[in-house]
Amino acid sequence: MVGAAVAFIAGNWKMFKGPAETARFCDELRRRIGAVDGVRIAVCPPYVSLREAIDALAGSPIAVFAQNAHWHESGAFTGEVASLMLRELGVDGTIVGHSERRQHFGDTNETVALRAATALDAGLDVIACVGESAEEREKGWTEDVLRGQVGALSDAVGANGRLTIAYEPVWAIGTGRTATPELAGEAHAFIRSLLDVPILYGGSVKPENAAELLAQPGVDGALVGGASLEVEPFAAICDAAARLARD
Ligand code: PEP
Repeated sequence: MVGAAVAFIAGNWKMFKGPAETARFCDELRRRIGAVDGVRIAVCPPYVSLREAIDALAGSPIAVFAQNAHWHESGAFTGEVASLMLRELGVDGTIVGHSERRQHFGDTNETVALRAATALDAGLDVIACVGESAEEREKGWTEDVLRGQVGALSDAVGANGRLTIAYEPVWAIGTGRTATPELAGEAHAFIRSLLDVPILYGGSVKPENAAELLAQPGVDGALVGGASLEVEPFAAICDAAARLARD
């Protein structure tokens, strides 16, 4: 992150926090975080809680992102939500291609690229997730996997100014196993050679390891899962990014 203009810390809440808990959490987060220089912060609640997050964080520097968005404007796509609908609600951006969507809900490099392109066209910022599984890494396929994932995004949207990539090795998500800062740095450099946009690291980021990971050249922020579900650890990660931005 050294030298990056603004670090970006985003909290992916996954399927946690309904509307009431979201409103309480966002009030507390807003009080705890106040104004943070040099760090962009976002929370990514489930769809049903987006309204409460937007209301509770209005006028604060904390943005609200969805966790997914469909590429059609409307239609017979039961259970999906369109980017333009999110935009109308007042959402700032969306995650696309999280490994849990790829693994459990059939997202492919092509559908992730479509989701990203449509969300950007709708005026949303996008965090597009990429990353290899443990098996892919063991077999030495990491670069091929990343080339396929990032290549599809690059073909669809290029180095769009509102696109951020999150490098999330699947074996590090929710496992407590973090990529070493060196491994994260290498993967980020490879991704940047394919598509030059800001790149977040994701995978068991905690207050204890955030500073070391964020200090790695080419790491422009973090996508945080488990540690974003409580105010204090999430705010501590934002503080670590703010300290690095000052140095
Ligand atoms: C995630 O869900 O994007 C994530 C990185 O989760 P965790 O921080 O819990 O590994």
